[in-house]
Amino acid sequence: MSQLLPIEDALARILASARPGQPGVEQVPLLQALGRTLADDVAATIDVPLDDNSAMDGYALRAGDVPGSLQVSQRIAAGSVGLPLAPGCAARIFTGAPVPAGADAVVMQEDCTEQDGRVTVGRTLAVGENVRRRGQDIRTGAVVQSRGRVLRPQDLGLLASVGVDRVPVYRRLRVAVCSTGDELVEPGGATLSPGQSYNSNRFTLAGLLQGLGMEFVDGGIVPDDPEATARALRDLASRADVVVTSGGVSVGEEDHVRAQVEKLGHLDLWRLAIKPGKPFAFGEVCGRPFIGLPGNPTSSFVTFCLLARPFLLALQGATEAPLPAIPASAGFRVGRAGKRQDYLRVSLEPVAGGLLARPYDNQSSGVLSSVSRSTALAVVPPDTLVEPGDPVQVLLLDLLA
Ligand code: AMP
Ligand code: MG
Repeated sequence: MSQLLPIEDALARILASARPGQPGVEQVPLLQALGRTLADDVAATIDVPLDDNSAMDGYALRAGDVPGSLQVSQRIAAGSVGLPLAPGCAARIFTGAPVPAGADAVVMQEDCTEQDGRVTVGRTLAVGENVRRRGQDIRTGAVVQSRGRVLRPQDLGLLASVGVDRVPVYRRLRVAVCSTGDELVEPGGATLSPGQSYNSNRFTLAGLLQGLGMEFVDGGIVPDDPEATARALRDLASRADVVVTSGGVSVGEEDHVRAQVEKLGHLDLWRLAIKPGKPFAFGEVCGRPFIGLPGNPTSSFVTFCLLARPFLLALQGATEAPLPAIPASAGFRVGRAGKRQDYLRVSLEPVAGGLLARPYDNQSSGVLSSVSRSTALAVVPPDTLVEPGDPVQVLLLDLLA
């Protein structure tokens, strides 16, 4: 129990218990598929583009006929199909229109002159010049999107380009969240009395879940009381696929989550070797996966991003889960090596040769501003000293929503 668990070990244990695609599959119209996770591979049933077409406004011709003067025998706009091109002729053609049979190149209109029904081309052309080949984007049978893909706007466009208008996606994972703590008050309600604070985690966690394309089941505030905690856990387990709590998982007398989860299921409580974030619980309650986040708002955010997020994404069937990590240079000094892996809240500033990670000035784990004002977490491994300018890995936060 006094042993601090490295984050990698915690994540490996958590992911080992994730059953991907657990919520099942549904078909949705493509316009509603943004952010959803694809439940099957989608293969193209056509070539894209469907035919050789012009990349330019200009004239379709035989490359072997130029330089020279050619009769303009037809006009082909996008959406129409021309006739086979007779030798010694050119077709006026517009971007996207199919290149007529017989033509093997397109000269752009800026490179020629048209007069009295003839076009004069003063230069040579390579065969295939300015022609977009049939299937150059996608070939029939190619997998255009794979199972497990979390669909982005451009992915929807690609699916549409092969004629798909509905896709199989995993059902939205329903994740219930409750915030434990007698001190908590919902914003918008009563003004605070001494000792109270507003329930910020409910909003951060709801937003994080919604950003992952999941359904937030609101468990509200649960008082620091064993019966109330047990009631809430049972209720949330009956309404959701996963139960998440914030607060109440330390070992204090008012931390009731642990004991109640152990009665209703089982629990591993870990002291993680990370900062912020120490207490983190994982287990099962009434047959549902259970995640116990620390109450401290910064810690709950960081542990959600590092542990809960990949677990929940895996449950929802997504294949790409970790926060993207990129190199930056430290805009800070760590003069005393720590025992835990530190996640400094930083913003990234473009500088010559890369990105500078500038820390928010107050890195105390109680300071939620440090999270809101930051765009990334700079990772400082245990037992590591950092000088300004040293390379550090940063995890990007702005891709969360
Ligand atoms: P706990 O993990 O319950 O011991 O809480 C640790 C600290 O986080 C305490 O200062 C709490 O007041 C604070 N805290 C717990 N839950 C929340 C919450 N939902 N919103 C804001 N602060 C919280
Ligand atoms: Mg508490």
